[in-house]
Amino acid sequence: MATASTHSLIACHDCDFLYRKHPLQFGERATCSRCGALLYQKKRDSLDRTLMLSLAALILFVLANVYPFMTFKISGRVQVSHLITGVEELYAQGFLELSVLVLLTSILLPLVKILGTLYILLPLKLNRRPWKAPQIFRLIEALGPWVMMEVYLLGVIVAYVKLVDMATIVLGIALYSFAALIVLVAAAGMTLDPEEVWERLETTS
Ligand SMILES: [Zn+2]
Repeated sequence: MATASTHSLIACHDCDFLYRKHPLQFGERATCSRCGALLYQKKRDSLDRTLMLSLAALILFVLANVYPFMTFKISGRVQVSHLITGVEELYAQGFLELSVLVLLTSILLPLVKILGTLYILLPLKLNRRPWKAPQIFRLIEALGPWVMMEVYLLGVIVAYVKLVDMATIVLGIALYSFAALIVLVAAAGMTLDPEEVWERLETTS
């Protein structure tokens, strides 16, 4: 496969020095001999850990979208908001582009990333090669910078601080699930070893 030759060379992220890659033992790291930056590493139990974290993330994603996010009580009136409410409010106030951006970066793309990761890793765990695997794996790798759930959470904290004197605010299950989801998606990104995925994709059929 063409990917085998392109994946045998690696450029240092910091100084662009080019290296030919050598197989590593689990837990080993290769660093740049010129500037000391990390080039690549072989992570232990990468597939299992990423799989478990992604499954847990999927459950939290469902909880974050189904249960109430926050409940406001202002002078006798009770208002329940959900994760999607933030998007709806932006849209209702005329911020169309912003509402689409928040919908993508906080809800849709995180879901695509979680489902895509499971789609690739579950079959690999069973020594099967998922359909269109290289294209889909490249897509979810490219999605990384667009998953920005923490920005949404930051907005929620700002709103909370502004409103906390005016209203009684009850934080819901969805809010805690969303916060935990951010941590799990970040952890899954750290445990994932793209090199191992590429190697397995090349050796399974
Ligand atoms: Zn370097």
